[in-house]
Amino acid sequence: MHERNPYKKNPPNFTLLARDYPELRKHCFVTPRGTLNLNFNDAEAVRILTLVLLKKDFGLVVELPRNNLVPRIPQRLNYLLFIEDLLMHNAVNNEDVFGIDIGTGASCIYPLLGAKKFGWKFLATEIDEDSASIAMSNVKSNNLSEKITVIRSSDGKMIFPEAVGAGDEEVYTFSMCNPPFYDFEESDKKYAADENDVYENVVTEGERPGPRSATVAKLNELATEGGEVAFVLRMVEESKKLRARIRVYTSMVGIKTSMYKIERVLKEIAEIRYMVSTLNQGRTQRFVIAWTYDNAVKFL
Ligand code: SAH
Repeated sequence: MHERNPYKKNPPNFTLLARDYPELRKHCFVTPRGTLNLNFNDAEAVRILTLVLLKKDFGLVVELPRNNLVPRIPQRLNYLLFIEDLLMHNAVNNEDVFGIDIGTGASCIYPLLGAKKFGWKFLATEIDEDSASIAMSNVKSNNLSEKITVIRSSDGKMIFPEAVGAGDEEVYTFSMCNPPFYDFEESDKKYAADENDVYENVVTEGERPGPRSATVAKLNELATEGGEVAFVLRMVEESKKLRARIRVYTSMVGIKTSMYKIERVLKEIAEIRYMVSTLNQGRTQRFVIAWTYDNAVKFL
């Protein structure tokens, strides 16, 4: 876990949390040592934990629909802290930061945490209509409308919003993205849908083990044509036009073999510099790729 991640030294203490948050208590069990632990196999328990941590540690009251992907707070913080490292390394002040979050989800998690913890401004996009509207209401109900704008990307043809490429002269500090990881074929093997098209993980085998705790999600949150490699490479392609309008492009990547495929493409683009970083969260390892057209940007 990142050094500055508040949960590194202070992981959630379920004994204390259950005392203060009755809604969490019923999802806890007593360990042989007499302490309480959370039943991570229950998707609802994981959802309530996220709500409780957002409230207790960040003063955020968030609507998280039962059928949407639930963001794991410590893991989302790791990615934000990697970006903060980059910004500090480049002596960028928090009040000057304007980031883009691609596929913000119903939770709008990265902009909410980024705005609340660091004071960053955000432009967030979301292709799914329901998720976009819940994201908008989460921004509003937390009084962050001055910092965060959510836009619904209508057809998904372009990943970066038109506004970024067109008229306005804004230079964005960074972009970030937690892309749908799987190709449709792959998500079919790992997740099963119920009659309401809500997907739940079924298998944890193969090249890329599925999540170890229960995961419930909508298909658009799990899968995209060509999986994460295709999604990130679309952003790379669009960045050829946008160039330094976004100072540093970044994306999360789920597995190493995806990263190799992405690096192979980036290596061939002479004007791009890139770096790779690792995010550790418990037994799960994720990666971040960052690339830039801006000669002034210093990588870590
Ligand atoms: N950022 C959130 C959600 C990640 S899931 C989190 O970290 O929890 C990926 C999200 O990307 C989904 O909500 C999906 O609807 C959205 N998405 C997929 N393709 C997109 C596109 N072309 N433009 C914007 N959002 C997209």
